[in-house]
Amino acid sequence: MKVLFVASECAPFVKTGGLADVIGAVPKALAQTGAEARVMLPAYPALRPLAEQAKEVWSLPDLMGGQARLLACSAEGIDLLLLDAPHLYDRPGAIYLGSDGQDWPDNAERFAALSRAAAAVGTGALEDWQPDLVNMHDWQAGLVPAYMSQLSANPPPTVMTIHNIAFQGLYDPKLMKKLGLERRHFTRDGAEFWGQLGFLKAGLAMADRITTVSPTYARELMLPEFGMGLEGLMRYRRQDLTGILNGIDTDVWNPATDPHIAARYTSRGLRSRQKNRRALMKRFGLEDGPGPLFCVISRLTTQKGLDLLLEALPWLVSQGGRLAVLGSGDRALETGFAAAVHKWPGAVGAVIGYDEPLSHLMQAGSDAILIPSRFEPCGLTQLYGLRYGTLPVVARTGGLADTVIDANEAALAANVATGVQFAPVTTAALEDAISRTCDLFAQPDVWAGMMRRAMKHPVGWDSAANDYMALYRGLVGAET
Ligand code: ADP
Repeated sequence: MKVLFVASECAPFVKTGGLADVIGAVPKALAQTGAEARVMLPAYPALRPLAEQAKEVWSLPDLMGGQARLLACSAEGIDLLLLDAPHLYDRPGAIYLGSDGQDWPDNAERFAALSRAAAAVGTGALEDWQPDLVNMHDWQAGLVPAYMSQLSANPPPTVMTIHNIAFQGLYDPKLMKKLGLERRHFTRDGAEFWGQLGFLKAGLAMADRITTVSPTYARELMLPEFGMGLEGLMRYRRQDLTGILNGIDTDVWNPATDPHIAARYTSRGLRSRQKNRRALMKRFGLEDGPGPLFCVISRLTTQKGLDLLLEALPWLVSQGGRLAVLGSGDRALETGFAAAVHKWPGAVGAVIGYDEPLSHLMQAGSDAILIPSRFEPCGLTQLYGLRYGTLPVVARTGGLADTVIDANEAALAANVATGVQFAPVTTAALEDAISRTCDLFAQPDVWAGMMRRAMKHPVGWDSAANDYMALYRGLVGAET
């Protein structure tokens, strides 16, 4: 089974969020099931050192206004196809945004080019590698089926994976000509979305199957509160829609071997974890208190419900809790947390920015991780939390609902609880969840039992890899 993954990010090379972790991990997990995946992604500046040693396998004299080449290489156990198109990708700044914080004005061309190159590979452009199937990830790859239908009468089957339906890639349909998209695709069962050209919409309408990253999010996508206007299409395609829960890379996220933490530990030696807690407190200028040390590791956006956390902060602090925040994003939230640090010195600490090693120390040293998301397709930080014994306190939505077992009476009696869930996503419910967490923390045996259980919760990729493989086999035919 040869599978082409098409995505705009891939850890550890280039990452802005969970999508990258997934793209970096699934191909390796799939390899264990006998599949061979290659990941196509743009050759951003961060990938230049790899690109320089890679082998050119395809080129096009004009792809959205400049020359483009595909470069094949392997790194970190992943087979990559880098789309080298300097006019589109070789520029300073973030991968989606310029230094002014705005989307690059040519993002439509940049990611249509990715889809167009992937369509070429899908329809046989490479001499020695022809995928049996193309798996597109998020809107950046949504146009692959449209381009493939223009290049071949018999393209391979496709799977469109939704990591977050809030990002849809909507553009002016006048761009279609420039993007080399035939007019026939601009229909309700194609790329048209309320008069606009929708990259994700095109993928969702045209792919053979649709997956998303948790079973609960798959159900939520059919509801107006979560479907972001695409709920009708999701309901229409419900037979083709599957939720496959993400895993995490358990080699990278392993408290027994993690190079980024102050002291390594296992579920049998939780005492050494205290060193991480102390290191974390010191790093954030916190003083120990009677309650748990909560952390947040997140994009600071309304999706993540962190405005509610700001409102619940007086309560958290009044309960003797401590909070360490690592994140960046919306200016109002950044300044909100900075102000909280001033208001409650020693009780609230924040690092505004993106810091991968620090995120590991936070998972290893906090008591609980707060994730009050309004919606969460899967969420990874609660999975890291489980693995590190940092108990997740989460909104009951999407993948958060699927991965954390709430410490209600029945779950505690049955010894299965691994965290705290709350609903609805309101300040009052969050405050209540914080209180429940503090109560549990005040019972050291109960807390330690939950930690040990959380650390044993299966969070790897094995199960998801088997599910993806079964889906691929169903599409490609059992003979592969
Ligand atoms: P999303 O993809 O919506 O941002 P996920 O929970 O799926 O949310 O994935 C977020 C990923 O990004 C996790 O690996 C998390 O540890 C990481 N992350 C988020 N913010 C930061 C930050 N400020 N510093 C380091 N890592 C971060």
